[in-house]
Amino acid sequence: MIREAIKSIQQTLPEGVRLIAVSKFHSETDILEAYKAGQRLFGENHVQELTQKHESLPADIEWHFIGHLQTNKVKYIAPFVSLIHSIDSLKLLKVVDKEAAKVNRIIPCLLQMHIAQEETKFGFSREECLEMLSSGALSELKHVQICGLMGMATNTDNTAQVRKEFHSLHTFFEELKQTYFHEDAAFKELSMGMSEDYPIAIEEGSTLIRIGTMIFGQRDYSKKTL
Ligand SMILES: *Cc1c(COP(=O)(O)O)cnc(C)c1O
Repeated sequence: MIREAIKSIQQTLPEGVRLIAVSKFHSETDILEAYKAGQRLFGENHVQELTQKHESLPADIEWHFIGHLQTNKVKYIAPFVSLIHSIDSLKLLKVVDKEAAKVNRIIPCLLQMHIAQEETKFGFSREECLEMLSSGALSELKHVQICGLMGMATNTDNTAQVRKEFHSLHTFFEELKQTYFHEDAAFKELSMGMSEDYPIAIEEGSTLIRIGTMIFGQRDYSKKTL
């Protein structure tokens, strides 16, 4: 099942779009099944669960952190995380920079933008993001690399709404690419699209899709840790 799901998603991906298998709440056995199908990029949203899985699973897995990250937990993932999708404040970015320096790394990061109508989702507004970029604060951070943007659309059946949100994120990405990240080849990732909406996200320019349920089935939130 997991193997077939991975294969069928991989087959539909245009060039330049990578699949992140979101394995939160799923067992190491399931992750290994995906791994055996060739999957190497996995996404998690809890620090403790991620560090446990990182310790026991194959070393060539690229672990992506996709959830809200508390500043006091950054140190646990700084030594190995491949990409943090969910930078939602300058304060967090500064802590990632500090912890990356301690382990002598430059950690790739995405700025999470609030594009959905729901209040519950994290992320910068455009204004906040532009304010941070124009303040010049980022140029002092030598141990983080901003590689692009991430966003989550509203959880709705209204596909026009979802498309509009992804489209506006892509437009904002292009604006930043031409201004603050001009001549910065690393600024190239647009992380958007989940099980329910990834085909739309790809049409709207996503380069990283984050898929859990469609690969691993429903999550069992009653299981505390794995
Ligand atoms: C859980 C999660 C996903 C995967 O969601 P599915 O609907 O299971 O594909 C993607 N992105 C983020 C940020 C998540 O927390």
